Amino acid sequence: MAERSLIFAANWKMNYGPSEARAFAQKFLPLTAPAEGRNLWFFPPAVSIGALSESMKSRSDVTIGAQNVHWEPKGPFTGGISIPMVKEAGARLTLVGHSERRHMFGETDDQVAKKTRAALSSGITPLVCVGETLAERDGGRTEQVIVRQLGSVLQALKVDDWSRVVLAYEPVWAIGTGKNASPDDAAQIHELIRMELGRNSVGVRVPILYGGSVSKDNVAELLTRPQIDGVLVGGASLQAEGWADLVEKGSKAKVRPSGWHDAVEG
Ligand code: PEP
Repeated sequence: MAERSLIFAANWKMNYGPSEARAFAQKFLPLTAPAEGRNLWFFPPAVSIGALSESMKSRSDVTIGAQNVHWEPKGPFTGGISIPMVKEAGARLTLVGHSERRHMFGETDDQVAKKTRAALSSGITPLVCVGETLAERDGGRTEQVIVRQLGSVLQALKVDDWSRVVLAYEPVWAIGTGKNASPDDAAQIHELIRMELGRNSVGVRVPILYGGSVSKDNVAELLTRPQIDGVLVGGASLQAEGWADLVEKGSKAKVRPSGWHDAVEG
């Protein structure tokens, strides 16, 4: 098994078309040298996957992903984009079940499970997001929600599949709000997720990222928690200088447990 990496994942959401993506790459790449055991992941809008992949192809530490895919390879799904299509454009990863997909576009646990399984069978790495809303948190249902969201993916996959899955804990109330989960709270939910994986005989050490208002000011403290294997970042990944700064600050802070492995297929 290859060495496991610290992961910095940038979710650009609905920002940056192809020319802006190229301009970002030109600015960003000289600001970050490749570093041993560190992976930089970018999730641009689908139309920019090709441009960003091409602009960053000189960097083996960079991997490009889609923000959303359909589980079917082709057919009458107007507006849908399939995994073979994003793969051809250069994607090797896909986000699955981001809270904006779940809560704004009505994506269900069942669809999240189908997309995860389809990504794995097409040879791309799914980064599956789970997280509770504010109402669920205030109602004391955080644990129940996380276990339910994870449960549908656990049901759909075989134990062996998990060596190619990455998870992100993203509390919905923390996304884009400037209110991140405290490092201890995040670490506690990461532990819960790991216990749930263990209870389902998933023995491999699946990387678990934290996402939700991560910034250059809080990334160091979050990453000092051994339970947090990396970060998934929206707003703070949109400016090349700011993103490079966050990546450097986070990298310095991280203490890496031994035995990490790289979850991305070549
Ligand atoms: C996200 O989009 O996954 C996210 C965590 O956004 P932000 O960093 O802006 O909260």
